[in-house]
Amino acid sequence: MSDEYTREPAPRAEPTYEIPLNATLAHCRGCGAGIYWVRTPAGANMPVDPGTGVSHFSTCPQAARFSRKREVPRNPTGSDR
Ligand SMILES: [Zn+2]
Repeated sequence: MSDEYTREPAPRAEPTYEIPLNATLAHCRGCGAGIYWVRTPAGANMPVDPGTGVSHFSTCPQAARFSRKREVPRNPTGSDR
């Protein structure tokens, strides 16, 4: 499928996902916005913004909460062999 007439400059190459009709509407734990959970081709669940299909990770103002998992505190005094 080639859209040769699409000349809109893309400020960001945000991947968009198709929202299935049976997608579950949920709310972001970070910012409380409405999101849909979709299954990516990779088989992962991805929250996307309704209407745009853009990953909510890209638009969420609280995305920093999700991008970084809680660092597990390492124990420097662990037993070394
Ligand atoms: Zn959010």
